[in-house]
Amino acid sequence: MYAHGRHPSGQVLKIRQHTFLIDCSESVQFRMAELGISPFPIQQIFISHLHGDHYFGLVGLLSSMILQGRKKTLSIFSPAGLEPIIRMQLEIAGKEVGFPLRFVELPAEGNPYCIFENEELSVWTLPLQHRIPVSGYLFREKTGQRKMIKEKIEEFGLSIEQIKAVKRGESILLGGEKIPADRLSTAPDPPRSFAYCSDTAYFPELAEMIQDVDLLYHESTFVQADAAKARRSMHATAMEAATVARDAQAGKLLLGHFSGKYKDLGPLLEEARVVFANTFLVEEGKTYFP
Ligand SMILES: [Zn+2]
Repeated sequence: MYAHGRHPSGQVLKIRQHTFLIDCSESVQFRMAELGISPFPIQQIFISHLHGDHYFGLVGLLSSMILQGRKKTLSIFSPAGLEPIIRMQLEIAGKEVGFPLRFVELPAEGNPYCIFENEELSVWTLPLQHRIPVSGYLFREKTGQRKMIKEKIEEFGLSIEQIKAVKRGESILLGGEKIPADRLSTAPDPPRSFAYCSDTAYFPELAEMIQDVDLLYHESTFVQADAAKARRSMHATAMEAATVARDAQAGKLLLGHFSGKYKDLGPLLEEARVVFANTFLVEEGKTYFP
């Protein structure tokens, strides 16, 4: 446990059928166990950078996965340098990885680009500015399927194939009559997006990279009075995080990665809310929605 009961970075992100892990500090696997979150469904881990408070939990988590007889492929995305560290630790410990473990290295700089995509979502890098190479991540849901009106399934006696067609937005033929999808189903939920930005100094271009994001997690290590410290360590203040949220026209801002020197986080929240009202402090173990 770190200062004031707060833990270092690690977030589990659930989007439809997917469970992702973003950063993996030393306490992550124990916190997941406490919260009843199984690591089994995780197939992708996204590490922002190689400062210990963002990845020191990886070897522990991987060792548990090995012990539990994992077979599913696991991909770990991160800036360069992670693979030899992890492989060496596992090798010296005599751990044989019984599942395909794939490391994907991200370039140190450049423009955001897509590193993962399927029919449900895409994941993009966000090149951030820190003392060592760091990448944030932007998760964008794709428009999902239409939602069936339950009573209509019975009323029209729809088959599985017909339900699938309606969900795709196709009209179906019933007794010679063409029934449009919108009589049997409602529009899909609007696709959501989430940006994870840690650690980074403030830079205005970040807002352009995450325009209109629904939920933004942004580090806010310092209050404005400590802005000089933020500059030196290449971190952001709460107000700077809020500036990014405001300029990106984000839906909601979550602040995290607070300096251990602050017991009371109230001032960070107050300073941020002056710039961006819909701001919240992340709390350990809580779930957040856009
Ligand atoms: Zn860092």
